Amino acid sequence: MNILVINCGSSSLKYQLINSASEAVLAKGLCERIGIEGSQITYQPAGGEKEVTVSPMPTHTQAIQMVLDALTNDKTGVIKSLDEVGAVGHRIVHGGEAFTASTLITEEAVKAIEECSDLAPLHNPANLIGIRACQELMPNTPMVGVFDTAFHQTMPEKAYLYGLPYEYYEKYKVRRYGFHGTSHSYVSKRTAEVLGRPYDSLKTVVCHLGNGSSISAVLNGKSVDTSMGLTPLEGLVMGTRSGDVDPGALQFIMHKENMDIDQMLNVLNKKSGVYGMSGVSSDFRDVENAANDGNKKAEVALESFAYRVAKYVGAYAAAMSGVDAIAFTAGVGENDKITRKKVCEYLGFLGIEIDDEANSKRGQEIVISTPDSKVSVLVIPTNEELAIARETLALVK
Ligand code: ADP
Repeated sequence: MNILVINCGSSSLKYQLINSASEAVLAKGLCERIGIEGSQITYQPAGGEKEVTVSPMPTHTQAIQMVLDALTNDKTGVIKSLDEVGAVGHRIVHGGEAFTASTLITEEAVKAIEECSDLAPLHNPANLIGIRACQELMPNTPMVGVFDTAFHQTMPEKAYLYGLPYEYYEKYKVRRYGFHGTSHSYVSKRTAEVLGRPYDSLKTVVCHLGNGSSISAVLNGKSVDTSMGLTPLEGLVMGTRSGDVDPGALQFIMHKENMDIDQMLNVLNKKSGVYGMSGVSSDFRDVENAANDGNKKAEVALESFAYRVAKYVGAYAAAMSGVDAIAFTAGVGENDKITRKKVCEYLGFLGIEIDDEANSKRGQEIVISTPDSKVSVLVIPTNEELAIARETLALVK
């Protein structure tokens, strides 16, 4: 069966068509600037050239129509008709406490996802628009929702509650939810498989380090803690997000700069992290180049990033009373050997030893610790689309 995986944002939409039997990506691409002037679709069939078409896409339905046209087009399409799409898997950001696993999209599920919009006002409405658009264009194709939060629903109360009055949890479900769950689940499973160890008796820390970054503690196949919270702002220093900050510092800055809370949150989400600290870029490659050229702010931004990652790994080793494996994934985790090395140097006290040659390889699943290392350290490229396709297949089969 071919499964169309859709990741729908407010003005962009990523897609992949995956064959569930071979798990091959038949085609993939991206629609950008939906509803804004200058919209374009990128389409790339497997083994073929990338095509970029500039075309107006006033709505998501039109964007998805263009995706379907590209997939079925006579010249570069990879399927003859939409009958060859057996199911659609949608990435959904927030499932609140309602969704502990992926779900078939029914009217009831849509309603429950709508109810979670309060918790992710920028993301869930966009995800729902993607669902509605697909329903309009492919009314008979089954659809599945795969949630970023679902994997972390196994966190115990002590990990997910904030130190706030309990009534805020009771009244509004204010608690830590965590994100990147599809990635943490996929990478922790692959870690056990690569090591040839049983998933249900392994203590793994997954470091998903990308533009958005989060860490999770996966104990015996279940997420028991993760660094993001009610929103993705908590935890690590990220590309443009601050991660953990004393709320008192925010009040202080807001008074000094005469900012309201929305302006402050905009700074925390978009102007902070290694970007804000370095003043250079949110892209680690740029920040590393600047640091190499002697830019001190860039140097300290990268140092803070690695330091915070190491602190969380240490905390999660304590949370699980030990750690067997640490897996690095996502843009920075998969590609940046310097950051991996720095993080692991802090963790030398755990008996971690890195094999520099293995650590310099890229683009593959690899154990980068030495055979003598007390904790296995791995790089596992994440594949959220494949994980969504697998979840989708399991529910529509
Ligand atoms: P997201 O999905 O959160 O947008 P990704 O997981 O795709 O992010 O990661 C993107 C980031 O990965 C880039 O911003 C860049 O900082 C980092 N990155 C990619 N390649 C490299 C590299 N070779 N060295 C260091 N960092 C890299």
